Formats: sequence, C-alpha cells, structure tokens
Amino acid sequence: MQTAFSAAQLSHGDTAEAESIVRSCVHCGFCTATCPTYVLTGDELDSPRGRIYLIKNMLEAEAKPTPQVVRHVDRCLSCLSCVTTCPSGVDYMHLIDHGRAYIERNYRRPLIDRMKRWALAKVLPFPARARVAFRLARLARPLAPVFERVPGLTSLAAMLRLVPSRQSAASRHVARAELPAVSTDQGRVIVFGGCVEPVLRPSFGASLRRILGRCGVEVIEVAQEGCCGALAHHLGRTDESVEAARRNIAVWKEELSRGRIIAIVTTASGCGTMLRDYAHLLRDDPEFSQIAQEISALICDSGELLARLNLPPINAPELTVAWHAACSLQHAQKLDDVSRKLLDRCGFSVKTPQEAHLCCGSAGTYNLLQPEMAARLGNRKVGHLEALQPDIIATSNIGCATQIAARSAVPVVHVVELVDWATGGPAPAAMMHSI
Ligand code: SF4
Ligand code: SF4
Repeated sequence: MQTAFSAAQLSHGDTAEAESIVRSCVHCGFCTATCPTYVLTGDELDSPRGRIYLIKNMLEAEAKPTPQVVRHVDRCLSCLSCVTTCPSGVDYMHLIDHGRAYIERNYRRPLIDRMKRWALAKVLPFPARARVAFRLARLARPLAPVFERVPGLTSLAAMLRLVPSRQSAASRHVARAELPAVSTDQGRVIVFGGCVEPVLRPSFGASLRRILGRCGVEVIEVAQEGCCGALAHHLGRTDESVEAARRNIAVWKEELSRGRIIAIVTTASGCGTMLRDYAHLLRDDPEFSQIAQEISALICDSGELLARLNLPPINAPELTVAWHAACSLQHAQKLDDVSRKLLDRCGFSVKTPQEAHLCCGSAGTYNLLQPEMAARLGNRKVGHLEALQPDIIATSNIGCATQIAARSAVPVVHVVELVDWATGGPAPAAMMHSI
C-alpha cells in the first residue's frame, strides 16, 4: 500500500513502524473473509484492509480521529484472524495497537464512554477491586434487562450477564499437602497469576500447579507481580501497559537470578500474547529492552509447557470435548494444535467446531464495550460448539471461558483442568454439577 508520510513523521519510531506495516499490505483482501466483524457487517471499513486504510490516513494527516474512524477501530476485536490469513505477513497487531494509542491521545470520547473505559482500566487489572465489582454485579444481575434498554448502560448490562452466578470456592493456590512429594528436578517455573482469572476461575491455576507438582517441576509464585497490562493496552492506554510490563519484569528478573527457571507460564492465552510482546513493547527502553527479550523468550502457554513434560500415567474419562481455540492461542501464538494434541494424548475425544477460526466475541474488554457485536459472535460460536454435542467445552483463556459459559449449559473448562483430571487430579470444578 502506498504511503505519503513526511521525513519528519518517519523520524518517530512508532510512526516509522506503522508506515512499514502499512506498506507491506498489498490490499489483496484475503483477510476480509476471515475477519469476524466483516463477516457480521459486510462493511469494508469493518475489515482489516478497511481499518489499515483508516489508520494510514489518520496517521499521515496527523488528524484528529473522526467518530467514524474511532467506531471502526473500536469494533476490531484484535483477534488477529487476519494475521493468520494474510499472505503478505502484515503485522496488523502492532498497527492496530498504534492506532488505538493514537486515538486515546487525540480523541475526546463522550463522557459515558470515558467513564466506562476508565473504570475498566482501574478495576479489572486489580484482583481485590475486581472481586468487589463482581460481587456487586452478582447482586445487581436482576437489573440487567432494565440496563439493556438504557442507551449508554448496555455495557453494564453485559457485565452483569457475564459474571458467573457463583463465586468459585477453589483457591488458585494448591495447599502444600495436596502436592505429591516428588523431586523437583525438572526445573523451576514461575506461574503467572494474572488478574481476572484467579478471581473468576481460580481452579485453572490450581490445576496447573497440581500437574506441575506431579511432574516434578518446582512452582514459583511471585507475590509482587500484577496484571500483564493487556487490558490497558487494548484500551490504548500504553503508559499503563508499559508500567505493568516494567513492574512484572523487575520482579521476575530477581527470581531469574536465583537460577533454573525454565519458563514463565500462564493459563490465560490472552495474557501469554501480551507477555510475549514485552520485548516489542519495551524495545526502546534503555533499562528494560534486554531483559524484556529474555523474559519474552521464557513465556509459555500452559498447554505448551505441559506438552513438553513427561506427564504422570494417564487415565482420562471417556468424554467428547469440543475444543474452542482462543484467538490469542491460535492466531497470536500459533499454538492451537499443541493444546488440541495434548487433549488427544490424554485420551479425550476432541472435536473442532465449524468456523473455529472466528472469535467468540470475548476479546479482553470487547464484550463489555461492544456488547451487541460480542453477543452475536458469542451466540454464533456457542451454536457451532453445541452442534458437536460435547460433554465438555474446553479452551485456554478466561475471557473465552466466561463468554461461552454465559451462553451454554455445557460445562466450560480449561485444558489444564482436563489434563489434571486425566492424570489423577479432581474433576474440573465446572463439571461438579454435571457428573
Ligand atoms: S490479506 Fe494482508 S495484504 Fe491482503 S489486504 Fe489483508 S492485510 Fe493486506
Ligand atoms: S484483528 Fe480480528 S476483528 Fe480486527 S481486523 Fe483482524 S480479523 Fe478483523
């Protein structure tokens, strides 16, 4: 794609990078067919190619973003399905990140939108605040139909509907007595806790810790770590995501210096995508660029790590699992096959739904900020998953699990919960009422 940036504009690193990404697009349009928002609306401006044009024009003109540009950029899920499809290797992820950050700096949203975005950035990344918010949401759930009819409050209604009706009683930490007494000669692994997942589904992390214990891997908990920064990053609040990255790297660096860390592992593939990108996020940071590269190289998805380990003897129940590959797993990290094969190896009968490449509509805070589009995608996804008549739906990301569980009576679990179950652990918490 031709561009017309000035030399002065290109002297800025971010703009130069955006220009080079735009130029790599040959506007063939292959990506439109696999873009969930284009599939829903049929509007070229809701396609990757349309958004690349909009961002290019906005950056070239150094223009104040128009409501039309903001609307179409906001509607992008950052699912990266377009990146998987694109034959030219267009790095859409960093272009849309740049576009979002530019909009955040240069566009004044209506008051209600600013309040929503501020609240999401200041509540969800902090587990204690998120826990209170989810408790209040459970109490207010009967009001969801009322809020749905009030313009500006549809996001609130979406949140009330998404929060699971029960607070999970499981602890994300596994009591020492629960871990078998095996030698920890397989190395040490930092288990990244994250922010929303331990509040909504602590059983995911507990399963991972149990399996690692059984595999002879020492689990390291780093108390001072916080949110990976993805929630703020996708809201265009780059300063906050950079701060999150620097804080996490600083505390992990200390742990790395103690030696034998073989991975930093996460059960949230959305977080994994962000953590792997620390090297890019901090590439110009004189203090952190080098260590950020080392940290990014250590990041591992939980399924990816378990696939590398010698698992304990396997004895899986005979169940059909509908596998939902989170976009962050299949498009961003290209690890879809790894987790699916892990479930195969455990003896589950794994089935893949139609339109497996399309996003479920969760996408970080997307289902709260774009509830109408997210609901259409969520219902479409659940229709395809349930068509497989599975006993269980499995995924690798808390956002997808929440989005799908809110629409399906089939238990939705994490892949690590199934591996845990198949290797001697308890049945997944979400199945307790169905077995
Ligand atoms: S598939 Fe790639 S090169 Fe083709 S229009 Fe889409 S982003 Fe551009
Ligand atoms: S990231 Fe997803 S929603 Fe956004 S343009 Fe690409 S395919 Fe479409």
